[in-house]
Amino acid sequence: MSHPLKAAILIISTSVAQGVSKDSSEDILRSVFEGEEEAGRWTVSDVKVVSDDILEIQRQIREWTDHEASGINLIVTTGGTGFATADQTPEAISPLIHKHAPGLVHAMLATSLSVTPFAMMSRPVAGVRNKSVIITIPGSPKGAKENLQAVIKTVPHACIQVAGADSRSLHAGGVKRLEKDAGIISLGHSSHDNSTAHHRGHKHEAHAHEHAHGHGHGHGHGHGHGSLVRHTKQGENPMSNDPSLGPTRRHRASPYPMLDVEEALALVSKHTPAPTVITSKVDNELVGAVLAEDVTASENVPAFRASIVDGYAVVVPKDGNMRGVFPVTAVSHAAAGEVGELKEGEVARITTGAPLPPGATSVIMVEDTVLKTMTEDGREEKEIEILADGVREGENIREVGSDTKDGSIILQKGEQVSSVGGEIGLLAAVGTATVKTYKRPVVGVLSTGDEIVNHDRPGHLRLGEVRDTNRPTLITAARGWGYEVIDLGIASDKPGTLEETLRNGMRQADLLITTGGVSMGELDLLKPTIERALGGTIHFGRVNMKPGKPTTFATVPVKNNDGERVSKVIFSLPGNPASALVTFHLFVLPSLQAMSGVSPVGLTKIPVSLLHEFKLDPGRPEYHRALVSVGSDGSLWATSTGGQRSSRVGSLKGANALLCMPKGVEPLQKGTKVEALLMSNVRLVL
Ligand code: AMP
Ligand code: MG
Repeated sequence: MSHPLKAAILIISTSVAQGVSKDSSEDILRSVFEGEEEAGRWTVSDVKVVSDDILEIQRQIREWTDHEASGINLIVTTGGTGFATADQTPEAISPLIHKHAPGLVHAMLATSLSVTPFAMMSRPVAGVRNKSVIITIPGSPKGAKENLQAVIKTVPHACIQVAGADSRSLHAGGVKRLEKDAGIISLGHSSHDNSTAHHRGHKHEAHAHEHAHGHGHGHGHGHGHGSLVRHTKQGENPMSNDPSLGPTRRHRASPYPMLDVEEALALVSKHTPAPTVITSKVDNELVGAVLAEDVTASENVPAFRASIVDGYAVVVPKDGNMRGVFPVTAVSHAAAGEVGELKEGEVARITTGAPLPPGATSVIMVEDTVLKTMTEDGREEKEIEILADGVREGENIREVGSDTKDGSIILQKGEQVSSVGGEIGLLAAVGTATVKTYKRPVVGVLSTGDEIVNHDRPGHLRLGEVRDTNRPTLITAARGWGYEVIDLGIASDKPGTLEETLRNGMRQADLLITTGGVSMGELDLLKPTIERALGGTIHFGRVNMKPGKPTTFATVPVKNNDGERVSKVIFSLPGNPASALVTFHLFVLPSLQAMSGVSPVGLTKIPVSLLHEFKLDPGRPEYHRALVSVGSDGSLWATSTGGQRSSRVGSLKGANALLCMPKGVEPLQKGTKVEALLMSNVRLVL
């Protein structure tokens, strides 16, 4: 066999990971892979050790299976399949599996059970994720060996199919041929019949495959030939519930892997559409926009030589001595118009910002002069005396283009127009009427839930009714960050209604924020509606954080008004109001910013000290709502806003920061430094 299949071994054991005990499974598993009968068929390309920790296990499996380049055909995990508290391998692997393979599980159990009834105590899972087959085998060396041996002959066939070889060439010769290749003598008489049926069932598919890709690519498909060709797209995600099956058939554990916040943010960044360029008018609506071009001044500022002071324009003699009495021959006000030529020995009265008469070289401040004579009616100056010597040319004059030069770059691509006013000021000063900017996404906000009523509905609530807190909250937050928001109202928990509201929302908005309906109840319809009705892709559906665990991020392909395929973004945030607002700031804002060309995205992170003891959550990292204030010495201090329960939107009242708290049992002491994500300005401690 020219190209061996690639296997990876994951040793799952906290004690081995910590170096407390030595691993013996690796050698045993290698010996099975490299044994005489298997020689050349397998290569063990990677071996990793992790603790009995769901996230660690999932991270390693995803690393092997989610990157096409790794090319791993088979992952064998060993350990963590028993009933002890620490054993969680099946729980970690199951949600990652795209296609379950109960046959492999059966084979492993049957083989072990023929040796010992204790095989019942193993809870293996097996299946396919992307292009890799995954099997979990026990940690005991003996059990590990038996289990791998039970499947090693037949599993290459699955590996090759999973990797993308077409089934026709694989099945040429039927199961007999497969069995022969695998070195198995078949005893059953029905297998041949099965193989015929199997073959027929695949014929159509194989044909379509050949049509799509043509013949004779020389790809060496086929069993026993390891040169693997990948034709299908990877990344099939686990699917949500099918709500039409009702509560008895819903998932009882989320099929979405739990991601760390950083992993989730990386997916937001990867799947947020790139910004598009538009032309915008220069006015206050421009605040918050990011420039999509370098802006060049098309005029000089000032456009003419202008006086910086109120005084007298003069022609300075060579020696700079201006002492003496001079006739006031002209007046130049700051107004449009013509001024006559000035000669040496004359002065022209001039106001701040007024153009210099041609010929004038400097301006003498009025404070450096004395009135000498006036006209007969006493209303005009006739002569003034100047008390200055050492006057230089250009004194008290703003030269043409000395503030901003015609043709110079005044603002750069990527700069954001602030509400301070400086950028608008620069653009206005040189007469820029329009600029190219990145289009800021329009946000649609809707609440979901049959229990939700408008917040201002008069009268008492009936049992079960809840006032819509999330919609006004999120509309405010999104507008506060400078985005146009469309209020999409409340959608009831009925599949059709929700789908209709989402479709309507996607016609008007670039990004939708929904709240509620992402938990595990049978009426939690967001995920199924996005995937099944809208054909969207859920990039993540669970995040390891508090609050906000069920935060969901999806994109839906649609055609825009010009018939182009674009993708619309949907954030389905948890229904609890504090969770919704925290996850808006953590996940939705970076997506909005990326679509608007803002870089870097996200809230500003600064180190702060705790002003009092803070309790931690033992299970998940927490985003603790807090008020950060600055002391007169510049030190930054954080105070909790109180109860952090996810339904308590009051935990965000008065908050200007989210403190990034690690999970932990012991409280953090007063004075501990933590990182704070700033949602608004820091105030001074009084
Ligand atoms: P759900 O994710 O739909 O199960 O909602 C979780 C919790 O959040 C439930 O107690 C809901 O009643 C509550 N909730 C959902 N949406 C809202 C909303 N718009 N305003 C206030 N509470 C809500
Ligand atoms: Mg609900």
